[in-house]
Amino acid sequence: MKLGFGLMRLPKISGGGEKDIDKALTADMIDLFLERGYKYFDTAFVYHEGESEKAVGELLSARYPRDRFYLATKLPLWDLNKKEDMEEVFKTQLERTRVSYFDNYLLHGVDRHVAKKLDEFDGWAYAKSLKERGLVRKLGFSFHSTAEHLDEVLSSHPELEFVQLQLNYADWESKEVQSRLCYEVAEKHGKPVIVMEPVRGGALAAMPPEIREVFLRAAPEKSLASWAFRFVGSLPMVSTVLSGMSDMQQLKDNLDTFDNFKPLTEAEHEVINKAVEMLSKIPTIPCTGCKYCVSNCPQHINIPRLIPLLNDFRTYRNLDANKRRYNMNVARGGKASSCILCRECERHCPQSLPITKILSDIAKAFE
Ligand code: SF4
Ligand code: SF4
Repeated sequence: MKLGFGLMRLPKISGGGEKDIDKALTADMIDLFLERGYKYFDTAFVYHEGESEKAVGELLSARYPRDRFYLATKLPLWDLNKKEDMEEVFKTQLERTRVSYFDNYLLHGVDRHVAKKLDEFDGWAYAKSLKERGLVRKLGFSFHSTAEHLDEVLSSHPELEFVQLQLNYADWESKEVQSRLCYEVAEKHGKPVIVMEPVRGGALAAMPPEIREVFLRAAPEKSLASWAFRFVGSLPMVSTVLSGMSDMQQLKDNLDTFDNFKPLTEAEHEVINKAVEMLSKIPTIPCTGCKYCVSNCPQHINIPRLIPLLNDFRTYRNLDANKRRYNMNVARGGKASSCILCRECERHCPQSLPITKILSDIAKAFE
């Protein structure tokens, strides 16, 4: 029973924005999830701009007894200005979700910056006090940094009982995400792992046709997403695998995967290895993210933030997800199409990338 319902990509009403959750469909999905015997729900203060926690209150807590479900939410340190804000946020979370305690409470998105803030505000001790006051059953954190940093955090804060990591087969050996290395650190510290992004934001359920073919040849009846879930679900330290489900079809497919969960066999691992090898051969733009191109751009185009979106789209063919990310990135200006071809950026790029051409491709793909 490892499947958890991630409440960050809930269905939205047609044409609606982030806050416009389709409550009728969400309620039906919650009902089915519970009916099939699953219990774990994961929200956060910031999901759907606060509406996710409110949806928990209205569609889960108000409709089911408290012991029918486990609820996790998260404290967003990066947004807070002073120590006292932590208590304010926590109180708001209890009000929104209409519960008197959280089963799991996470320090949200710990990286170097957030860890510094936690030190400044003594957030670690604050989190511990929530547990002592009976408002939280288990304390943990979601993590977005290196394995080395994870080791530091877990060594300094053994009171944290679990860790939420971005694990999936495509990022398993990634130098940036360090899925495997982070998992091994959690294992070394004996901390259960909750998995986020097991399908890499939907990318591993998209895929180019030639890679889809590899999976379909091995098991025509299995969805691409099921391979990704079984990869992380087969890891012994993994206690829960979160899926941010947006429609009934995804939910049903996931329930089918987890109802009779089967760990991957050796032969199935080979199929995944083959897919990863093929993914690694897809050519991408070798931008190092050094940002030398940014400061002289008169149009304030955040080039190193936009190029990875095109790389991700070319690799996984997941247009919708990358369009969404693109729109978030250019919400305050700096669209790729606003480039005036002055080539200031190209003069500063150590990789000699044809940035203006790349931006034109980005505009074509996402605008
Ligand atoms: S060419 Fe375009 S992206 Fe490059 S600096 Fe000029 S306006 Fe900015
Ligand atoms: S200067 Fe070149 S390599 Fe560096 S971030 Fe900009 S595009 Fe990428």
